[in-house]
Amino acid sequence: MNHFGLDLGGTKISAIALDEKGNELARTRQPTPKNYKEIVAHCVSLVREMEKQAPGEFTLGVGSPGVIDRAAGQVNFSPNIPDMKGKFLARDLEKSLGTCVQLANDAVCFALSESADGAAAGLHRVYGIILGTGVGGALAENGHYVPGPNTLFEWGHITLPWLDEKDMPMPRCACGRLGCIEAYLSGRSLHNQLSESIGRDITNDELNALLAKRVPGVMDVTNNYVRRLAKALAMLITILDPDALVLGGGVSNLDMLYEDMVRRAGKYMVVPGIKTKILKAKFGDDSGLRGAAWLGSK
Ligand SMILES: [Zn+2]
Repeated sequence: MNHFGLDLGGTKISAIALDEKGNELARTRQPTPKNYKEIVAHCVSLVREMEKQAPGEFTLGVGSPGVIDRAAGQVNFSPNIPDMKGKFLARDLEKSLGTCVQLANDAVCFALSESADGAAAGLHRVYGIILGTGVGGALAENGHYVPGPNTLFEWGHITLPWLDEKDMPMPRCACGRLGCIEAYLSGRSLHNQLSESIGRDITNDELNALLAKRVPGVMDVTNNYVRRLAKALAMLITILDPDALVLGGGVSNLDMLYEDMVRRAGKYMVVPGIKTKILKAKFGDDSGLRGAAWLGSK
């Protein structure tokens, strides 16, 4: 049995086919249309294309940002594709393809991928964190997603814990509230703070090089970022007591996040000496897509 996954991004729909062992059999993508009917048609054509390259029986999983009712297969809210709101995407794809379709939030797919055969493979309780345009997260255990009644993965919209004077004034979040973790730790926020500090736009790729040169404005902003991330991770460890936290999304490529982070987060814990591993995603940008493929198999 092969496992097909689709990842519905704001600009492109990516598709992958994996075998039972996680080996990649096929990969393709198309631009994301704005209209829902066209999105369904593009998804169907991507699946048909993969069937040609990876023939035989398959499962199908679809990952999408936003609020997903997994049981109903419905997209309740999509931040990048307004026409998806309220649509029963899983059911509509099932009708067209004649196969069962699993639909989940992209953070769920990420956590599943890294727990199944990624950075945290073999570990029991794993929380997958996306530090991308926004901040999200989801829990997986032993390579399986842990579903809950609310299907909410909005960890980023909790106020940053252990606030101090260096965190003031609290930034306004896209959700309207003050001081959300996302408002401090999203890729967008880091990018804005860096651009303001050094007076020009810099890319994520450039950032590691600037940090290696210890450019002062860049160091200040990223040191603050790391300090706040440590607080946010310490809160998750306190509540969930996970075996590993896996970081993904554009900001997770920053080497500095992994230097000494266990000790930094440990400073905020009541009991010292935390054993939770803090890991970089194994599959990088592909993790959400691979996790979508695993949705059908797990
Ligand atoms: Zn918020």
